[in-house]
Amino acid sequence: MKIIVPTYYRDFTCIAGACKHSCCIGWEIDIDDETNEIYRRIGGDFGMRLSHNIDSEDGQAHFRLDEDERCPFLNKHGLCDIILTLGEDHLCQICSDHPRFRNFFSDRTEIGLGLCCEAAGKLILFGDRDFELTLLCEDDEKTTALTDDEVELLSIRQDIVSLLCDRSLTLSERAARLCAGWGNSLPHKSIAEWAAFYRSLECLDPKRDEILTVLESASIEELHFPLDSDTERAFERLLCYFIFRHLSGALEDFRYEARISFALLSLLMIYSAASVIYHRKKSLSHAVLIDLVRIYSSEIEYSEENMEAILNELE
Ligand code: SF4
Repeated sequence: MKIIVPTYYRDFTCIAGACKHSCCIGWEIDIDDETNEIYRRIGGDFGMRLSHNIDSEDGQAHFRLDEDERCPFLNKHGLCDIILTLGEDHLCQICSDHPRFRNFFSDRTEIGLGLCCEAAGKLILFGDRDFELTLLCEDDEKTTALTDDEVELLSIRQDIVSLLCDRSLTLSERAARLCAGWGNSLPHKSIAEWAAFYRSLECLDPKRDEILTVLESASIEELHFPLDSDTERAFERLLCYFIFRHLSGALEDFRYEARISFALLSLLMIYSAASVIYHRKKSLSHAVLIDLVRIYSSEIEYSEENMEAILNELE
């Protein structure tokens, strides 16, 4: 089995205590059965601490978050006491995987980094590497040849990524060609109307509504801003990321157009929010853009319900 990753994948490291929006806060973390079994066998004080801080619902174990929604093993320095006490190999699957996601094909697994993590966001948007896939390794797991649908999807995706990376065109020309080339067009809505639609979705982070309020109150002039080369490149990479992460879902649901439209709509919403901030604050730092992307990703990409609602709206 081939493991395929974006070239920036190898450069990722969790910034742990320096992370301002730790994934160990605000998310309920399920513990896989195998790790839970290992935790049950840990003795001594730490074993007691584990058993006091793990709940189970319908047979699914998870860490019991404290009143501030922090994982009980996240210490005051922002470090994980399970890693410090037992070692990194004792993390449950979700903790050791985050912020990675996987897309499965007959002969390969693709692994990417999710933008809900600020360290991944910095790397994806502003790191040294543009979007490009590479072979990370090949293991002995048995595979079969790619199906016709997979071959077609990978070919479409490659064509899209080549278009998105064509810097002889402006970003808006690339987005327009993406629409034209794959017969897409976004439903006709103003940014304020899209913001109202996003407000109707499940909300995980109250900051989302602050951003939507900003979008709902924006003037036409505030919805466009000049892109410097770094920011234009960041938006290009963002589009590539959304295509890489979400197009392969069309193998299951055949919603090619809606998934391409999702990438475009996501870019439009993030660009628009960035533009209003640029006008009101007279600048747009990398950190602010990374944070906008982080909020968008965690609100939308990590909620199946929200993804489904948007894809339905775009069909
Ligand atoms: S969000 Fe990313 S950088 Fe922050 S703690 Fe989680 S994996 Fe590490």
